[in-house]
Amino acid sequence: MKKKLPKVGEFGLIEKLKKFQRSSTRIVRGIGDDAAVLELDRRRYQLFTTDMLVEDVHFLGGVDPAALGHKAMAVNISDIAAMGGRPTFAVVSIGVPSGLSSRYIEAVYRGMRVCADRFGASIVGGDTVSADKLVINVALLGEVEKGRLVLRSGARPGDRIFVTGPLGGSLAFGRHLRFAPRLREARFLVERFRPSAMIDISDGLAGDLGHILRASGLSAWLDEERIPRRRGVTLEAALRDGEDFELLFTLSSLKAKKLLECKSVAKDFNFIDIGEIVAGHPGTRAGGLFLRDRCGIRRAVEMKGYTHF
Ligand code: ADP
Ligand code: MG
Repeated sequence: MKKKLPKVGEFGLIEKLKKFQRSSTRIVRGIGDDAAVLELDRRRYQLFTTDMLVEDVHFLGGVDPAALGHKAMAVNISDIAAMGGRPTFAVVSIGVPSGLSSRYIEAVYRGMRVCADRFGASIVGGDTVSADKLVINVALLGEVEKGRLVLRSGARPGDRIFVTGPLGGSLAFGRHLRFAPRLREARFLVERFRPSAMIDISDGLAGDLGHILRASGLSAWLDEERIPRRRGVTLEAALRDGEDFELLFTLSSLKAKKLLECKSVAKDFNFIDIGEIVAGHPGTRAGGLFLRDRCGIRRAVEMKGYTHF
């Protein structure tokens, strides 16, 4: 599954496309977070996100159709969760190669539907076209109470950095097809602890923490020993493999302490403190992302993860 795009790469291209964005007082956040944030009513924002899966880029032909449908829906729900919201309505567009049976497509839909049902979303429309390879695109709306919205840009120096589960090897273990979006965790966090920043890990810990650091204009260090890894996974893979779909969030040190002392957290959730946000723009020579080993020795690491192209 090799991924290629123009030389600028995924994020370089998105940067160039930003100029086509129009501003409006109804747009609270456009391109640049896990979902767009739009005015809805006095109390709530509308969230809007989309993700596309393409055969031979994101999955191989003949993959279990229910798992594929689950993933197509779950990746979008994960982006709504990362904003602190709840998913509502989805439209689904599919490009279908001529040889593929309607039975296979129905099984994909069954997978999508089960996932949507589980997290409170409904499929309300879509588009169907013929294509050389199977393509599935889900666009998903969500809602979030205004006080509970969490952006990538809100991290503060001194904040602790958390993840919601073990990282790395998601593709090798097949977890990327079966993961459960961390909606329950996200809602608990926004209702009880108001994280300062949050993102879901789709591009790898180093890449997605990089998104928080750039959006917040700050740097960070991670304790190498504390980064939770899936069994048999190297530190490098835990940092850079994509498609973990765990949440990565930041909390003031006071709230972090309370979170870790909270009895219901210990019982129901897995929030792992892995490092700290520090002052300094990540683009400067002294700034960026650092790892600390068990002796406290620091080394800089690239804020780059898995690229989807
Ligand atoms: P995620 O991994 O959270 O789904 P992406 O890395 O795909 O986010 O996208 C980053 C940001 O760029 C998002 O705000 C997304 O809406 C925006 N984006 C991605 N591709 C395009 C595009 N082709 N046109 C406009 N915006 C885009
Ligand atoms: Mg995301």
